[in-house]
Amino acid sequence: MFEDTACGRSCFGWCGEDDAWRDACGVFGIYAPGEDVANFTYFGLYALQHRGQEGAGIAVWDGKSLRHHKGLGLAAQVFNEQIIEDMAGDIAVGHVRYSTTGGNTFVNTQPMVGEGKWGPFAVAHNGNLINSAALRHDLEARGIEFHATSDTEVIVKLIEATDEATIEGAVAEAMKHMRGAYSLGIVAPGKLLAVRDPNGVRPLAVGQFNGSGWIVTSETCALHVIGAEFVREVQPGEIVTLSADGLSAMQAVDPGRKSCCIFEFIYFARPDSHIYGKSVYMARLRMGHLLAQQAPVEADLVMPVPESALPHAMGYAQVSKIPYGEGLIKNRYIFRTFIAPDQRLRDLGVKMKLSPLRENLAGRRVIVVDDSIVRGTTTGPEVELLREAGAREIHLRISSPPIKYPCFYGIDTSAGRKELIAARLTVPEIRAHLNSDSLEYLDIKNLVKAVGLPKTNFCTACFDRQYPIPVPREIKVTKFDLEKAKEKAEAEVAG
Ligand code: SF4
Repeated sequence: MFEDTACGRSCFGWCGEDDAWRDACGVFGIYAPGEDVANFTYFGLYALQHRGQEGAGIAVWDGKSLRHHKGLGLAAQVFNEQIIEDMAGDIAVGHVRYSTTGGNTFVNTQPMVGEGKWGPFAVAHNGNLINSAALRHDLEARGIEFHATSDTEVIVKLIEATDEATIEGAVAEAMKHMRGAYSLGIVAPGKLLAVRDPNGVRPLAVGQFNGSGWIVTSETCALHVIGAEFVREVQPGEIVTLSADGLSAMQAVDPGRKSCCIFEFIYFARPDSHIYGKSVYMARLRMGHLLAQQAPVEADLVMPVPESALPHAMGYAQVSKIPYGEGLIKNRYIFRTFIAPDQRLRDLGVKMKLSPLRENLAGRRVIVVDDSIVRGTTTGPEVELLREAGAREIHLRISSPPIKYPCFYGIDTSAGRKELIAARLTVPEIRAHLNSDSLEYLDIKNLVKAVGLPKTNFCTACFDRQYPIPVPREIKVTKFDLEKAKEKAEAEVAG
């Protein structure tokens, strides 16, 4: 799966957006009076840019007021030196966005601001509320007005609507009503809050900065960038407050079954991050090891689909003892474009993004390792590119199980099951569709083994339909399901 330059809904497909699941956001916060908090937040967002490229924003508390700046696009497109300089303050929270609930519009960019009894606040959210429509309906019935369409605004309005005198009390009250995945960074007068849903679906960590400063971040990779040290993860159902009094925490709601998204280990998180104390890079390497044991094949070369599958392919090569090498070179300078795609342009898109390395491919039997296949729309053209370059055999090895079910916890799968190739076709049918000589997926047991923690720590619902947080029927039943049900009913009548 390609991993960068996602541009949202309409592009050539050069960025690989047409066959990638995008994580729903990155959150970064800093409590550090006397430091250049806006600048550090910008660096933090830069480190988390892979988690969202549709929008970016920063909100800063300067001791008297809350200021914010947001926009559509990458952090580097939204901010410049002058904007950052004008945002001097003591506490900041920042956000990079990829949309799930709510479209990619300016009003849906984050952080989103609100006003409570304690003063102003701003919320940055990674995840997705599965009951946001019902909550919004209830709030609107109470006369509360909305200006955006995202679930983050629902969170802000819920917090505003409580009678609590403190931000912690208001957030705890709001959490009683929120269902789904949410990792939040919240800036309020004199405080930075880190909040995680009762199942801990999306990661959220706390770090220490320059002795008395604090960091909140979706991923630990952003700690290294600014020289902060990891302290601990925010626990499921917990509110952590970082202020002049140091770190304090409260269990706001009872924790549920731990359900960290296992896809963070496969693809979403940066390989230099740690989750649950486990190295994402090492987990990916072990996925490659186990894939080689589970699905061996004779070949001359093991190659990754660049760049997200690098550690997976390296692991496969280490165990198989087949030489590792590059077979596709990625153009790193493909940028966002908004020309409506058609199939011809999509085909061109893969060629714009990847070039085959004939010297490594001609006459060879090649094992191509990728981290996942979502829709299968880019894998077929990749196989074609390799064949055109002279590869004699092409064996696809995927270091995750087939993705058969949509995600409702912060990944955009709005098109439902019908977009997932493994929901429509069997593995042999997918192989035939992609025109590879063989195709094997890592099984779920080996995936969990590679991460090195019990399965009960994880959400694996997109592979096995075991949704840890019950999903309301109205959003779970997709058009695809309805079509299937209709087909079944028609077949029964015909039979
Ligand atoms: S359904 Fe899949 S992508 Fe979504 S949280 Fe669960 S494991 Fe992650």
